[in-house]
Amino acid sequence: MFRLFRRKAREAPPPSSGQMALQFEARPDTTLRPAHPTAPIKDQRVAMLRHQPVRWELVRSARRTIGFQIDARGLRVSAPRWVPIWEIEKALDEKADWILRKLLEWQQHERRREDLQPRWEHGALIRLLGETLTLTLDPASRGAQRDGDLLRIGLPLDAPPDDICDAAQRWLKEQARAVFAERIPIYSQRLGRAPTRWALSSARTRWGSCNPDGSIRLNWRLIHFPLEVVDYVIAHEMAHLLELNHGPKFWFAVEALFPDYERVRGMLRHHYDDAPES
Ligand SMILES: [Zn+2]
Repeated sequence: MFRLFRRKAREAPPPSSGQMALQFEARPDTTLRPAHPTAPIKDQRVAMLRHQPVRWELVRSARRTIGFQIDARGLRVSAPRWVPIWEIEKALDEKADWILRKLLEWQQHERRREDLQPRWEHGALIRLLGETLTLTLDPASRGAQRDGDLLRIGLPLDAPPDDICDAAQRWLKEQARAVFAERIPIYSQRLGRAPTRWALSSARTRWGSCNPDGSIRLNWRLIHFPLEVVDYVIAHEMAHLLELNHGPKFWFAVEALFPDYERVRGMLRHHYDDAPES
């Protein structure tokens, strides 16, 4: 068995929590009074931090401090109602380096996540065997088909993301099935043994698995990776036909099938920050 990622840590661990609070003296609220005093007031703003425009959301609340929170949604600043904007902007400026660093960490985190989970919309980037295709909605097309660097999907531009996801994933699974069907016999021949059967899996946490009955399952999402990664996971699961464990004999078999396995294992980790169970 080959774990894709642990269930809790499906995605790369998020950057350390971007939270910070500045203490202020409580002052009587004389200027800003919301229509509904209990509801926080949100508003969207842009600040220039180190010459970069940074979008932020101001949440007025009953708290006594200015708080910064940074996550995938961006920067949110909670501030007491009585603190004037110029004072909040001054605080943003003082914390600019920290804020920019946290925002960048989150951006990178989101980008890694999107590698595996595209947003299902026109223009989304889809990885296929290490190449990048641009998902293109084209009502004149039928089904889904590759056209150079495009993956054309026969849906209107305003198609719901679920429909786009279904069509794109159906196509990706077909590609995975075709590639696995071509690669498995190569490794069967090297090993001198074939799986009793094989199937695609959609497991959330595993790249592949091998059962005691000699069947193997391969995650269709492997199709996003370069072919050598697909090959490594096939070699890994096929080696389990000999050894249903991860002992030295097992790794010896993997090495015989796929001599460069250490490097490719490293690539899997590097790409997604996931440490597969070795
Ligand atoms: Zn394994």
